[in-house]
Amino acid sequence: CSALSIANAKTIKIGTEATFAPFEFTNEKSEIIGFDIDIIKAIGAEAGFDVEIVNMPFDALVPSVLTSQLEGAIAGVTITEERAQRVNFSDPYYKSGISAVIRKEDASKYPTIDSLKSSRLCAQIGTTGANAAQKISGNFGSYNTVPEAIMELKTKGCEAVLNDRPVNLYFLRTQNDDSVVEIKELLNGEDYGIMVSKKNPELLKQINEGLDKIRKNGKFAEIHKKWFNV
Ligand code: GLN
Repeated sequence: CSALSIANAKTIKIGTEATFAPFEFTNEKSEIIGFDIDIIKAIGAEAGFDVEIVNMPFDALVPSVLTSQLEGAIAGVTITEERAQRVNFSDPYYKSGISAVIRKEDASKYPTIDSLKSSRLCAQIGTTGANAAQKISGNFGSYNTVPEAIMELKTKGCEAVLNDRPVNLYFLRTQNDDSVVEIKELLNGEDYGIMVSKKNPELLKQINEGLDKIRKNGKFAEIHKKWFNV
């Protein structure tokens, strides 16, 4: 029975960028795990599809959905007007926003995000953090991943990393590294959505219905607790 149902289940390709803990990252066995991965799999279980996770650079996700190399993507992607012109977004599933990580020794020098306005900043390429860096100082470097941007901060290639606050907080909580701290300020309120190809409105509907179901049956809360422990 299970062999038959596996053979019959539709598998959809969902892109991610797996250096964004706790939303998507790799474990010691190089498996891609995280809040987003559990959420999309739980949605698939409700909606009747299996998920194949495809790892790629963040700035390749929208183009890959646009050209149908992916059916969708889940990657802590902020719902923005610009992206929504190219791809569909599911209903919002997570409240996020931008904060800044600085070197601890600079904590009194940079008490607020505004105090970074003439500093060189770092961000991940193609992200809302990069947009924020552009607005704050205009002088910023883009890196393929957030860990690379943090590395640049530590080696003094920039004065702050602009990135999603829940990822910054998770990093600061889980890394044994007290050389960096967060400026305790949320710059923009943002919502994450699951990206779906505009050519597949049926999948968008299934994802929204699945999301609604896992919110109602407690699965969403269970997954949230697993990764955020709250
Ligand atoms: N939420 C941010 C954005 O959508 C960053 C996402 C990410 O780096 N995975 O731009």
